[in-house]
Amino acid sequence: MIIVMDPTAGEREIGAVEAKIRTHGLGVHVSRGTERTLIGAIGDERALEPEMFETMPGVERALHILKPYKLVAREWHRASTTIDVGGVVVGGAEVQMIAGPCSVETPAQMNAAADAVAAGGARLMRGGAFKPRTSPYAFQGKGVDGLRLLKDAAARHGLPVVTELMDVRMLDTFLDQGVDVIQVGTRNMQNFDLLKEVGRVDVPVILKRGMSATVSEWLMAAEYVAAGGNHKIVLCERGIRTFETAYRNVLDVTAIPVLKRETHLPVIVDPSHAGGKAWMVPSLACAAVAAGADGLLVEVHPDPRQAWCDADQALTPADFATLMHRLAALAPAVGRRMAIRAEAWAFA
Ligand code: PEP
Ligand code: MN
Repeated sequence: MIIVMDPTAGEREIGAVEAKIRTHGLGVHVSRGTERTLIGAIGDERALEPEMFETMPGVERALHILKPYKLVAREWHRASTTIDVGGVVVGGAEVQMIAGPCSVETPAQMNAAADAVAAGGARLMRGGAFKPRTSPYAFQGKGVDGLRLLKDAAARHGLPVVTELMDVRMLDTFLDQGVDVIQVGTRNMQNFDLLKEVGRVDVPVILKRGMSATVSEWLMAAEYVAAGGNHKIVLCERGIRTFETAYRNVLDVTAIPVLKRETHLPVIVDPSHAGGKAWMVPSLACAAVAAGADGLLVEVHPDPRQAWCDADQALTPADFATLMHRLAALAPAVGRRMAIRAEAWAFA
């Protein structure tokens, strides 16, 4: 951290700042210029906050020089992290597709959805059993029964499952039910107690970006999970809120290369919640892969018009299969390969 003293600061004020830095176990380097003095705190500055100094007499401002996150920063961990989900690797050379309905509805819907996901070639299945709905009167999800339906439907094709955890009290149930990847949704990105709890388990976590969160806030949220010991974190860009009202959210494609530089964690993209319309999904999915995403999270429903949740944005099984073919053709142009389930494209 650097503390910039104001031009009128004297030795007394400088000495007080030095003493405060030392009480936190850091060393001090003082640089006296012609106009003002700069004081550097030497050591792990994460113990310090600018406000600790900015209220002191003679201090103009204080600034961090290191990133506020460490475990998730590429600065400290050059190699990209890969995460193994039941033999499916996220963050490696292959781009993974996670597909399935917004919410778990019925056994028939889930079986048809799993068939579509597998036939399209995806190797991971999604489905929400606990749904974060804007209205308390809207369908809230099937709960624990939904977890079972998701697991059973996916198991028919050997697909590991991804599902959203909203409440820390359900964490043990998720583990008991064999949830393969825990999703933390946009509305919970800064639910720090939830982040701490998923940080204590050995199950991969998909951390969605808060709809109004900066990249730095998002990485700090990931740092919460990593600080608990769980380093199996996948970041998921799902669109942010802006002034634009023509679509549900704005897919922040810029975040993809920025994250790939800032962090070693895999980055995936959810084009469904970004655009909010099924017809936008293929374009956004292609943009994400072109920009370097390690995977996609896409809503697919056997009969979108009948979906209980997010009907407008779900792809039909046929449109999903078309998208997978398009992505498989696109990925090599950017040095990647689309992961395709071995049995799926036997005809291709
Ligand atoms: C979802 O994936 O179904 C979901 C609710 O996503 P988000 O948290 O991005 O809105
Ligand atoms: Mn949804």
